[in-house]
Amino acid sequence: MIDRVEEKLAIKPERLIADTSYGSAEMLDWVVEQKQIEPHIPVWDKSHGKPGMFGRAAFTWDNEADCYYCPANKLLRCRNRPFKKPRSPVTKANTIIYRSSQHDCKTCELKSRCCPNTSHRKIARSIYESSRDVARDICETTEYLQSRKDRKKVEVLFAHLKRVMNFDRLRLRGITGAHDEFLLAATAQNLKKLAQQRFKPRDYRIGAPALC
Ligand code: SF4
Repeated sequence: MIDRVEEKLAIKPERLIADTSYGSAEMLDWVVEQKQIEPHIPVWDKSHGKPGMFGRAAFTWDNEADCYYCPANKLLRCRNRPFKKPRSPVTKANTIIYRSSQHDCKTCELKSRCCPNTSHRKIARSIYESSRDVARDICETTEYLQSRKDRKKVEVLFAHLKRVMNFDRLRLRGITGAHDEFLLAATAQNLKKLAQQRFKPRDYRIGAPALC
């Protein structure tokens, strides 16, 4: 939709508000790097760790040295084993794996909170991590709190369409069909809202004289 609007009208939004289902690394990178739009989108992140254990946030990223520092201030590096044919460190999931040294972890006092069942700690860093960081920083701002409130105002209309007006699936096929059907549903919703506001039954309890 953003592409279509940009193509037809030569305009694009300054910020994009969406829920976590749009917070994948690829999507955030497209919004930040390709479209240069502020992502007011929560980051899809499953690396928080169990309670009492060190999640990804406990590890500090050093961009220049291309490594992480663990809570014990030891290095986690992306080690490439020497293969005959040079291989890319990027995995199929578009991440780069950073590993601590077994030697460091063996004697570490924090091991029980870090990697109790493995010989060393691994951190998978997305190749789109810089875009995820942009979204994370925006999530800390007051502008983001306002965006979240604005999003709820729109989402409640979709929820009403789905749950109350039973508009849970599209019956017509193709973009034109979807467009027409959605336009009709939105028109019906607006008419219903207008009628409710216009012909609101009077609340006789307000200002009614007290019974003696
Ligand atoms: S267990 Fe290893 S990675 Fe974890 S804090 Fe200790 S030295 Fe660092």
